[in-house]
Amino acid sequence: MIDLRSDTVTVPSEEMRKVISSAAVGDDVYSEDPTVNKLHELVAELSGKEAALFMPSGCMSNQIAIKVHTNPGEEIITDGDAHVLYYETGAPALISQVMVRGIKSSDGMPDLDEVKRTIRPDVYYFPRTALLCLENTHNRHGGVILNQDYVVSAGKLAKENNMKFHLDGARLWNASAASGLSIKELCEPFDTVSLCLSKAMGAPVGSLLVGSKEDIKKAFKYRKILGGGMRQVGILAAACIYAIENNFEKLKLDHSNAKTFAKIILDSDLVTLNLDDVHTNMVRFRLPDSVIDTAFIEKCNEYGLILGALENNWIRAVFHLNISESDSIEAAEIVVKVIKDLTK
Ligand SMILES: *Cc1c(COP(=O)(O)O)cnc(C)c1O
Repeated sequence: MIDLRSDTVTVPSEEMRKVISSAAVGDDVYSEDPTVNKLHELVAELSGKEAALFMPSGCMSNQIAIKVHTNPGEEIITDGDAHVLYYETGAPALISQVMVRGIKSSDGMPDLDEVKRTIRPDVYYFPRTALLCLENTHNRHGGVILNQDYVVSAGKLAKENNMKFHLDGARLWNASAASGLSIKELCEPFDTVSLCLSKAMGAPVGSLLVGSKEDIKKAFKYRKILGGGMRQVGILAAACIYAIENNFEKLKLDHSNAKTFAKIILDSDLVTLNLDDVHTNMVRFRLPDSVIDTAFIEKCNEYGLILGALENNWIRAVFHLNISESDSIEAAEIVVKVIKDLTK
């Protein structure tokens, strides 16, 4: 099966499994796992931050960052379609007891004048606005890369207003591979950044939160509170180190496969799609009105292709480590064939 639902479906390669099986381990609750400690050093260095902390998921990284930067009853600002707001089960309300104000945008970069107007003045009957949170690349906006000048300006605005600045960088690796900016440059404006290794980087499990020593010390405690203190977790950290050293450079291939796929289906004149909207490893296309998305997805399944439906007849295809160029071409041919079948 060619599975393009998400880049989270990647499975560890033989070589990664070998690295996992020979990893040196210790008890990470005592901070004694040498492989975890090595990963922390590697990612802190790569991101230009003082410290890094291994987390079992991207959600936990983001939510602990929110917890570190806020007090109960305060407020945070995000893009209206941010993962922390849309896909994290209301965790800011449950874990940090903060309100989230989402500002709608078309590209994950909410207008800064509107952000400014959304920040509460220092009056006793308002909650304090404590945190601004961005996402790069932006998942629900189709893997778009944030403009770095925008990011720097947003960071200045946060600082001027005594707010912290967090980045959900689940796919910051893709932003770096596509833009040529280093992870360090992309992380520089932020107080904290979460980075996922379980997406297109191909590790089975693992995210990291990076930031100052002080913030990561607080995060360490909250990770334990949430049940994220793990023991011989070096077997997972080894996979993450392997991913950084071997799979980071392969992301460009995912991006070119996404373009190849998009061009073929666009050439069929059967779908709505803008090639300029293919920024990294995601392609979104709209089916003709006469084709029902559920029927389309079911039929693609029969031909060995798994896709995900968005709203309004839009379909999403995500390219990753386990998808070759020929898979991408085959997937596009299946899409074209199925739409033709269903419109006959
Ligand atoms: C996948 C993802 C996360 C984290 O997801 P987990 O499944 O918890 O690892 C966070 N932010 C974005 C933008 C994501 O796409």
